Amino acid sequence: MRLLIDDVQLWDGTDSPAQPRMSVEIRDGRVHWIGPASEWRGSRTTARVVDGRARTLIPGLMDCHVHYSSPGGPEWITRFTDPLPEISMRAVELAEASLRSGVTTARDVGAPHGVSIRLAQKARAGEIRSPNIRAAGTWIAHRGTYVPFARHFGEPAELRAAIRIEIEEGADLIKIALAGWNEGARPQGATDIPFDQKLLSVAVEEAHRRGFKIACHANDPTSCRIAAHSGVDSIEHGMYLEAADLETMAKNKTFFVPTMSVWDAMLYYSRAVEWPEARKKRAEELRTGSRSAVNAAVKAGVQIALGTDAGGGAARHGRIAREAELMVECGMDPRDALKAATSSAAKLIGEDERGTIKKGTIADLVLLDGNPLESIGALRLIAAVFQEGRGVA
Ligand SMILES: [Zn+2]
Repeated sequence: MRLLIDDVQLWDGTDSPAQPRMSVEIRDGRVHWIGPASEWRGSRTTARVVDGRARTLIPGLMDCHVHYSSPGGPEWITRFTDPLPEISMRAVELAEASLRSGVTTARDVGAPHGVSIRLAQKARAGEIRSPNIRAAGTWIAHRGTYVPFARHFGEPAELRAAIRIEIEEGADLIKIALAGWNEGARPQGATDIPFDQKLLSVAVEEAHRRGFKIACHANDPTSCRIAAHSGVDSIEHGMYLEAADLETMAKNKTFFVPTMSVWDAMLYYSRAVEWPEARKKRAEELRTGSRSAVNAAVKAGVQIALGTDAGGGAARHGRIAREAELMVECGMDPRDALKAATSSAAKLIGEDERGTIKKGTIADLVLLDGNPLESIGALRLIAAVFQEGRGVA
């Protein structure tokens, strides 16, 4: 079946401006022809024609940081320990909600029991309505830190083994979590963050040696210092990244995935469900830190990819537009925020055939009843979502 998106404003995911009055023909799941609407020479009777007038066509969105195993919300961490059947069924529903919001590719960066790997397999097989998923399996963290349902290690050999196991179990990338000691777990004389620079370089070396990318959770000042100079492929959250860190990241081409939806949702919940003062204060600190880190990252020329942390932080699924809005509020040009959600995200995830609209690319597309390059909130005005050329929303 041929699909023609006719007479539409087209933004192709690159630095080029949007072009008016274009048509895009899709055949066998890929972009077959792009050109001025007046120059299309096919037959309208044999093609499915979608009216593109007063609409903008953009590449399918990519969320580089989600957790479909949790719904987010005010008690998001507890939701990760729900019964496994509940987590598994819910993941299918949340992936579909994400797809409907225009996310055609997602990086699921951590799930208990490696649920995300199964979900990614089902999505790949076309058995569920879901974004194309790149899954990290389970988080890897130092024993005594982070969440109890992560995969924990103590010694370097155990860290290498943890990475090997994730890969054997089908992970598409490795997710490392730097974090301080949990209450009562800290041995005498231990440093604040046990996952130090040396251990992190072991992880980077092991993942890269096996041909896998490595994403690093860092949301406190020490973790940000360690992560920025380690050679990981992306730093997640990074609320306390400073000028020297960002300079190194720009030099090493390390991606920054700011996940600003986290503090945004937390600030909302702190009012809506009357959180205790300490939690409210923490959310405000995260906002301040995150805003200045993103501002400075833009100035330093660090590559930024969009990630909401839906499920893993307080943010709920299906709200990618909010993250893009926050990027623009932090000084990013709307086009750069859109690139962070398309072509730049594709670069981080390693999806060469997605993230831009060019002849031959996979036809993951979003059609909007508005122009997000003028007003980023137009990302909410979804007219249609296409995945490999099929209308899915
Ligand atoms: Zn997360």
